[in-house]
Amino acid sequence: MFDLAGEVALVTGGAKGIGKGIAKALKQARAKVLIGDVDKENGKRTASELEGEFYYLDVTDRDQVQYVIQSIYEKYKKLSILCSNAGIFPQMSIENMTEKDWDKVQNINLKGTFFVAQAALKYMKKQSYGRIILTSSITGPITGFSGWAHYGASKAGQLGFMRSAALEYAKYGITINAIQPGNILTDGLIKTGEEYMRKMKEIIPVYTLGKPEDIGYTAVFLASREAGFITGQTIVVDGGQVLPETPNL
Ligand code: NAD
Repeated sequence: MFDLAGEVALVTGGAKGIGKGIAKALKQARAKVLIGDVDKENGKRTASELEGEFYYLDVTDRDQVQYVIQSIYEKYKKLSILCSNAGIFPQMSIENMTEKDWDKVQNINLKGTFFVAQAALKYMKKQSYGRIILTSSITGPITGFSGWAHYGASKAGQLGFMRSAALEYAKYGITINAIQPGNILTDGLIKTGEEYMRKMKEIIPVYTLGKPEDIGYTAVFLASREAGFITGQTIVVDGGQVLPETPNL
């Protein structure tokens, strides 16, 4: 079960962090893994560790996204799995947020998801098969956090996009689902500071931050042929963080 041998997977933002965790798990399940990222150094390193290939890919550049995905399809003759994972989460108050700050987060997290999904769906429809997995978040769709209004909006937006896309493409053998990670220990999270990470650890019922691989294993499940009857859904992977009715009880 969950054998991805023969599948070709593209992971955006796969150079490090959660994307790398997803890429590693897909490779463990025997998929061919391609990394699409703006970080050339880490991207190339991760791709070579996983015997995959690195593609320079800025998810906000629609022409580039279409060109890269077309090149992948022409080279490998298929693109079975897309993990749309590239994202940023700079923290700032609404009071200080400029239009540029707002747009940057929406462009990478939300518009980028649309660009890569749209480009991949064209080829997935041709091959009558595809698995798209979005990295959303608990922040936005379920919870709120001061300083992440723009981020929360982008992560909730991904789920709105996903539900209609899932319906549009269900008849072509394509499923589109999302993972909602809680606090996962990555460079992106480390940027939020020691104090934030310490507080988070205390309130997570399993008393630890998540690992990128925790998201990776969930992605393998959703990417598998066996998950073909699941579409337009989300899986929360957060160590129980959103469960308590009252903190610390
Ligand atoms: P990270 O900063 O460690 O890694 C993000 C990766 O995305 C980097 O390799 C970066 O180069 C790449 N990237 C950034 N902009 C890009 C662009 N325009 N085009 C292509 N690649 C780009 O972050 P992470 O913590 O691994 O987060 C990955 C995803 O997981 C994001 O979508 C984030 O919102 C989501 N997420 C993270 C957490 C967490 O706790 N770490 C929780 C919930 C959701």
